[in-house]
Amino acid sequence: MVDFSEFSDRTWWMTPRTGNLVAEIRTEEYGDLTYTQTEQRPEDVSLYSRDPARVISLYASARKLAERGRYFDTRDNAAFDLLDYDIDASFEPRGVGRESLGARPTLLGCWIEAAARLAIRVRAPLKSLTLHLAAELDIHSVTSNELGALLFFRMSGRDDVIVNLPAEAPAGTEFTILIRYSGLLEADELEENWIGRQRFLDVGGTATYGIPERRYLYTNASNWYPQPTQSDYATATLTLAVPENYGVVASGDPVAANPPLAPAGEQDGWRSFSFVTVQPARYLSCLITRFAPGGAQPTEIAMDGATDPASALAGVSYDSLLLAVEANDFGLERVPERARVAADILRFYASLMGDVPYPAFTLALVDSRLPGGHSPAYFAVLNEVLPVHGRLMQTWRTDPVAFTDFPSFFLAHELAHQWWGQAVGWKNYHEQWLSEGFAQYFAALYVREAHGEEAFTEVLSQLRRWSLRHADQGPVYLGYRLGHLEDEPRVFRALVYNKGALVLHMLRRLVGDPAFFRGLRRFYGETRFDVAGTDDLIRAFEAEADRPLEDFFVRWIHEFDLPALRFDHRTEARPDDPGATDVVLRFQQDGPLFEIPVTVTLTYRSGVEESMVVVVDERTTELRVPLQGALRDVAVNEDNAALAEISSR
Ligand SMILES: [Zn+2]
Repeated sequence: MVDFSEFSDRTWWMTPRTGNLVAEIRTEEYGDLTYTQTEQRPEDVSLYSRDPARVISLYASARKLAERGRYFDTRDNAAFDLLDYDIDASFEPRGVGRESLGARPTLLGCWIEAAARLAIRVRAPLKSLTLHLAAELDIHSVTSNELGALLFFRMSGRDDVIVNLPAEAPAGTEFTILIRYSGLLEADELEENWIGRQRFLDVGGTATYGIPERRYLYTNASNWYPQPTQSDYATATLTLAVPENYGVVASGDPVAANPPLAPAGEQDGWRSFSFVTVQPARYLSCLITRFAPGGAQPTEIAMDGATDPASALAGVSYDSLLLAVEANDFGLERVPERARVAADILRFYASLMGDVPYPAFTLALVDSRLPGGHSPAYFAVLNEVLPVHGRLMQTWRTDPVAFTDFPSFFLAHELAHQWWGQAVGWKNYHEQWLSEGFAQYFAALYVREAHGEEAFTEVLSQLRRWSLRHADQGPVYLGYRLGHLEDEPRVFRALVYNKGALVLHMLRRLVGDPAFFRGLRRFYGETRFDVAGTDDLIRAFEAEADRPLEDFFVRWIHEFDLPALRFDHRTEARPDDPGATDVVLRFQQDGPLFEIPVTVTLTYRSGVEESMVVVVDERTTELRVPLQGALRDVAVNEDNAALAEISSR
């Protein structure tokens, strides 16, 4: 339904285009379901449930698949590029409210008054453009220096804004539009809640010692500023004003003239913070909260590993980074330690990738009842968990991503998103593992760097355990839809995060460290400040490893079976030297054929251990190994690096 109420009091309906189909199906068990066939969509067949609002099924018809191939980019038919934002906004926090006396209090959000200037370049002849802006925000005007006042309309209750141009703009035209808007907008939840399920929130609702400081996060989920309907990297200038006792962290390099985040002494009404997003960001975010005085002020950290002469990167490359760590009251005492570890992690990632994508980074430690985090470009929000009732701790610890033995794991995961998820985005929901699986693997690599091989094995063991448990729920490529129908986010995290990370580790063992890290850098360099797909990843690794890898990724990312392996070994005289003894390691595969590297460890009577990686890739794979002495034991997959059920005898 389209809101034309300013023109007419009649209700207007959009009808499907010729060739498309919409069927409303009333069912007793599932309520109203909507079946659609939409020729223009890369996945043209869908079945939705309205209440609860869920995608039940979504796929490409055989005809569509034949036409576009296995991969698709939702931006292919984007009519324009968004080049730059200039946003001037004020945020007035409205605290909490409750609908009735007995209801749970909810955070109301901020009253936002804003003017956003968007610089646009037309890609294909354009008569109107569709933007997203939260339905709660009222638009007062849309004007353009080049085109004058513009007519716009909104879809009732939806975030769509359609702006009409006075005449068709030819491809290549550049113009700016200025949108003035205001309204009360709820803040976002953190993108990553490191807990089993939302319902555990209720268990601990009153069990926290201390009241968390309120924080208002506006990020990619909330459409707090007008933006294209598809991810589009853009530069930006943000000027964000807040009441005197609040501070702002946002996606951009904070301007040197900004006031300190924590107010010092008497203030005068409102304070304004500016940020320049010189390196393009996939989306813009900001965090508004009361910071405590005493955070770690911006400090220049040298990124020695970040000068990689081998790759020519688009945009600027940095060899240092301005790091700041700020906190609410409760997290303040953890600032020095977090600052030290964050610098350590960032330096490590810079050395792996040969690059730092963004020149400034602020870590904001916010009070919370539960662990969680979110990492837009230029900053990360990390929950510092208030002391809670023991029962609650037990529940969130049983999550695929809760690595409670390594407290820096969450932080390492969030920081990795500066490279994976932000500098390199993903083309559509299927490709989210390129962000989460990579961030998870980088966090695991940091655990090895900081705590050693045994700790790394422990992390791999958890990745493997959760992957095995939920693998039959679907392929990694299903993205957010994993566990969606059951409302079970653990399935999504077990597969998109953990299985995704393990697939990278298996790939590394298959192609070897040099080709793996060259492949990572190539993929990163080719897709930096752009969205990527698994097809881009395959091409990058194939080029560096000099071998085909399509089948490997189809098996591990597009399909959900896991290898079923049987292992045994025998000792026998060496054929050409009967005086010497060999051990023959044998793997047998049933079901679909995988290519999977498996570690076998020989233990001799002397106590000496010898490990080798066997690449299992046929129905029967045998490896003959000359023995160095009397054999005591043969163990398989002790490093947990192979994602397979392996039975041995
Ligand atoms: Zn993540």
